[in-house]
Amino acid sequence: MVAAHHRDEVDAYAAEFGGLKLQGGQPVAEKEAAKAAFQVGSADEAPVISVAIGAGGVGHTLTAARVGIQAEQAWTPGDTQQMKKRLHRIGQDRPVDYYITVAESTIDEHLHSVVSTKQATLDAVLDGQADDGVADDERSVVAEVAWLLTQQGLDVSAAEPDSVDGSGSSSGKMLRDAAHLYLRHGLQPVPGWAARPNGACCCPRSADCPRPGKHPRSVHVGPGPRDFSWKPLACATPDEVEQRFADGGEYAAGNLMLAMPEGMLVIDQDNDDGGREAIAALAGQLGGLPVTLSHDTPHGSHRIYRTPQGWKGRG
Ligand SMILES: [Zn+2]
Repeated sequence: MVAAHHRDEVDAYAAEFGGLKLQGGQPVAEKEAAKAAFQVGSADEAPVISVAIGAGGVGHTLTAARVGIQAEQAWTPGDTQQMKKRLHRIGQDRPVDYYITVAESTIDEHLHSVVSTKQATLDAVLDGQADDGVADDERSVVAEVAWLLTQQGLDVSAAEPDSVDGSGSSSGKMLRDAAHLYLRHGLQPVPGWAARPNGACCCPRSADCPRPGKHPRSVHVGPGPRDFSWKPLACATPDEVEQRFADGGEYAAGNLMLAMPEGMLVIDQDNDDGGREAIAALAGQLGGLPVTLSHDTPHGSHRIYRTPQGWKGRG
């Protein structure tokens, strides 16, 4: 059995090794046929079944498997346990090896260390050695992984602008100064729509806009009438900053938004939603975050970090 998280991966393993798979969205009859073929077929006829982690509930019996390979890290210890159980159900009369593959310099490497720690905590609770609650939900894993990735802060020695994100009132030189500062750090400034004092967006959707003042300006990139993109407006040079954020220009009186390049992440602290307390709790548990470039938002703050060398992700 090969287990994976992403649909593309499950499909790719099935396509490579005989076509049997269990995946969310598959018709029940097809799932049953795949299971039956795997359970009764010879190793030549049905060598592998490819299974989506967490898909299809706990009811699948795959005791014909001799080896389980989890090709992607699960987000909780429970998901890995569930995959193992499919191979160890009643009727299994042989030992089964279970492998979890973790590639170097991928997010799985960090996930694996976080999830392994959580498994140890879970075991301690189940053994009666600890009686406090265990937070092994997906959100807490995401928060811990993000924490582990905040390896390096951005240089804050340059003069910092005050609130620039979503304030709606920043204009002219102050906005351009902020844009130049972020550009020097490798982020790409993008002109954004502002919100009106009554809360409606300045974009054409006005009061119907679902994210007033919180989305970038865009241009038509064709071919369809709805094909708009902010990407041509992202500033890659100081000249582009001067042009796009010029006083009286097409994008004046708007907001400054930032496109994240590869290898960076932002922690968005929302104080209306317990952000301050969550950050303090994580700092107590995992250590403080490095000093970095940050700016205030209407409800908290953004902190910008570089992720470890070799990482291609952004977030
Ligand atoms: Zn809008």
